Amino acid sequence: MTEFEKRHCYQKFKYDTHKEARRAAKAMNRKYHEPFDAYCCRCCEFFHVGHKLD
Ligand SMILES: [Zn+2]
Repeated sequence: MTEFEKRHCYQKFKYDTHKEARRAAKAMNRKYHEPFDAYCCRCCEFFHVGHKLD
């Protein structure tokens, strides 16, 4: 784990399940009109919501 990954992870809200994170991502898509997606974090093994990369 790099320092960048750690910082990135700690600043983010953690979701216990992929389902919860996906629901949050959908809400953010609507709110910001930008594509967000849920992903499993390899630092903490919880889920975060981030910008879709593609
Ligand atoms: Zn994390």
